[in-house]
Amino acid sequence: MGKKIIRQVAIYGKGGIGKSTTTQNLTAGLIEMGKKVMVVGCDPKADSTRLLLGGLAQKTVLDSMRDSEGDVQLDRIMRTGYKGAKCVESGGPEPGVGCAGRGIITSIGLLERLGAYTDDLDYVFYDVLGDVVCGGFAMPIREGKAKEIYIVASGEMMALYAANNIAKGIWRYAQKGGVRLGGIICNSRNVDRENELLRAFAKELGSWLIYFVPRDNIVQHAEIRRKTVLEYKPESNQAREYRSLAQAIEGNEHFVIPKPMTQERLEEILVEYGLMDLVEDYKI
Ligand code: ADP
Ligand code: MG
Repeated sequence: MGKKIIRQVAIYGKGGIGKSTTTQNLTAGLIEMGKKVMVVGCDPKADSTRLLLGGLAQKTVLDSMRDSEGDVQLDRIMRTGYKGAKCVESGGPEPGVGCAGRGIITSIGLLERLGAYTDDLDYVFYDVLGDVVCGGFAMPIREGKAKEIYIVASGEMMALYAANNIAKGIWRYAQKGGVRLGGIICNSRNVDRENELLRAFAKELGSWLIYFVPRDNIVQHAEIRRKTVLEYKPESNQAREYRSLAQAIEGNEHFVIPKPMTQERLEEILVEYGLMDLVEDYKI
């Protein structure tokens, strides 16, 4: 039998949009489907795996490297969480010190050397911070580790600006490598006509809205308990939504090189869906 291909997936989106929440609930959904999943947190905040681990990871990869002078064991940096989910936090320097993305480069290199990418894995998710794809944060797609990308967005203007900027980065790296956009995940902010707006936005990029995740306070209730919604309230509607998202990702066949839009075109769409007034005075 040939070597199984691990689907390596990068999740991008503006800070606070819901990348970590969505990734971990999606992971729980995939695990319920019998998949083996590793989550690599690529945010210096190091909170990408908190809901799967039932608390913050003891040590990030960068911390472990520093403390052990390079001689790191795999079980120091890779923890097993909810139903066998493998959890890694890259970590990063204090804000404003050095390259914030360095942890990602260090982590992926170390994980490879320590043999973390085992054949039994079905998915590796990189939960990557950022409004733009640059520096160390581009690492998972620049080096061709993650071939598949999803952008988490909402109907809020800044989330869409960020998503379009991320699409520009993907476009750049897609020219040379095999990286493709698998779709936009809407993490709803209950904006009017949000579903339509996100559909139009995704279509303009040449992609599609793969899933619309509703906004629900149960996410916060689960978060306080350091749990995914699937663990906290498996029978809830929100848990079902995350399971459907997992199904959508598992069955996805829609991978494209995105066509980022101009600022003008993005603003036209925002006007069309009522997010922005057509007031010329705003122009500077
Ligand atoms: P990111 O990783 O993109 O910075 P987080 O996943 O940490 O964002 O989410 C930010 C906040 O939004 C969290 O406190 C989380 O509870 C909340 N949140 C995320 N998704 C939802 C949702 N679908 N419904 C309600 N709250 C949500
Ligand atoms: Mg996060």
